[in-house]
Amino acid sequence: MGAGIDVMQPAYPSGFCAGNKKRPQGMNLALWLERAGRSHPGQPAAGYGNRVARSYGELAQRAARLAGALRNQLHLTPGDRVVIAAQNCVEYLDVLYAIWHAGLAAVPANAKLHGTELGYILEHSHAKVCFASPNIDAAIAAHAPATLQRLLTIGSAEYETLLQADAVAVTLREPHDLAWLFYTSGTTGRPKGAMLSHRALYWASHAYAAEVDAIAPGDALVHAAPMSHGSGLYIMAHTARLGIHVVPESGGFEPEEIFTLFTHWPRPSMFAAPTMIRRLLDCRADCDANGIRTIISGGAPLYVEDAIEALDRFGPCLAQIYGQGESPMTITTLSKQDIAQRNDPRWQARLASVGRPFACVDVMVAGAQEQPMPAGKSGEILCRGDVVMAGYWQDPQASAATLRNGWLHTGDVGAFDDHGYLTLKDRSKDLIISGGSNIYPREVEEVLLKHPQVREASVIGRPDREWGEIVVAYIVGTAKPDELDALCLSQIARFKRPKGYVFVPSLPKNNYGKILKTELRALDTGRPLRFPDSSSSA
Ligand code: AMP
Repeated sequence: MGAGIDVMQPAYPSGFCAGNKKRPQGMNLALWLERAGRSHPGQPAAGYGNRVARSYGELAQRAARLAGALRNQLHLTPGDRVVIAAQNCVEYLDVLYAIWHAGLAAVPANAKLHGTELGYILEHSHAKVCFASPNIDAAIAAHAPATLQRLLTIGSAEYETLLQADAVAVTLREPHDLAWLFYTSGTTGRPKGAMLSHRALYWASHAYAAEVDAIAPGDALVHAAPMSHGSGLYIMAHTARLGIHVVPESGGFEPEEIFTLFTHWPRPSMFAAPTMIRRLLDCRADCDANGIRTIISGGAPLYVEDAIEALDRFGPCLAQIYGQGESPMTITTLSKQDIAQRNDPRWQARLASVGRPFACVDVMVAGAQEQPMPAGKSGEILCRGDVVMAGYWQDPQASAATLRNGWLHTGDVGAFDDHGYLTLKDRSKDLIISGGSNIYPREVEEVLLKHPQVREASVIGRPDREWGEIVVAYIVGTAKPDELDALCLSQIARFKRPKGYVFVPSLPKNNYGKILKTELRALDTGRPLRFPDSSSSA
């Protein structure tokens, strides 16, 4: 292992200390790992499949050495952005923590994105370095902007050499400094980077451990959902409390494998999109579900029927969260106790809700004049608190439109009940959520409209039992579904392309010529779809 952990003297050992003038202000999410490596070097920190892959001493050491390489060999300076474009892997932890340890900002990108989309994130974030999984580095190289100085393949000889660098101390940051640039799909077709500070993720981590899922040393977190999004946002809470990060060997979500991991690792928890929970329920009934600590559903609506089935099958371990990249996993939560309370007369209504606001935020359902709406009345959901993003990266207009009068405007519509439970009604931004992944129609429409035989295109989500929603494209024109499918595959991520097409002579529009999506959704019920011949491929 080389030099011992003692070389990593933190610049300021007591870590988080805001407001005391005699002391430097300092914060860094990497301090939780640094501390764990010092106090519990032999404690398992990461598992791969059924075996321990890193102890806390090893993980802290790897992060400190890789941080040394980022600072002293690649000459990055505090605040520089580093993109991680990787499937779930144990090295994700090395890289994420090395970035923070070195005082840099992480930009975790969805590994399923198309090369052009990853290229856009690299360019927009002005990242100097990108860590990529071996199977996507070529796609990135083909679309890398001139601003990218190094593309490093995770696990390559070059990567291993960087891990031999001299360890450095954690670089302390200000609480408001950028820790995670969270790219969300944009309504304008381009993703926007929600700026999440060290302080925001510090509070989000405490909120999780206090209100969703108590964590004891040795408790496992199974990373079945992407570490670049939902699952990754729970890494810090588990590190702070000496949990074990378990990465499935498949690198993702295979229900039978997940059940095997559940029986192998102590007190497992898992973040899951509702579609994943459905797939766990559809898996063989003899899969052992005893001992699961928590399954956290989030990112899309959880059907009441599925919640009840999960409760029957897995026991009282289901929780739900509602959040968005702009307030990561931290707007409301429906607790395990609420979900399991069958005798409560309000039980079914509670299951249809997303729960109560987290203690770390204020949540308001606002009317058109931003006035608080009474219980039972719908309005836009607003949220404020230390967990909320500082704004969108290099996008003052979108930041000002979304953060107004101190409130985050979520674009979601909902209503509180008399007891303060929030139910989501709609998504005012037209977002489609398919299999837990967000798809903004405009992104897909822009691609479809590039086809010379497409005059108009409008994309909507059609409710679907398996996926939550599927992407359906309404087309005015004579293009063939196969041609449109090929066009989408050449420009956007596979999961965003329409599953089916409807060809119509015209689209419903208002007086100003704006396509009326609500009307289109109403017309869509039961409409037969035309499929591309290649639609059987994933
Ligand atoms: P993202 O920024 O990718 O996390 O997506 C956030 C959006 O997903 C929210 O604005 C909601 O529209 C939706 N969402 C998140 N959590 C839930 C939930 N528990 N139930 C229903 N929709 C949700």
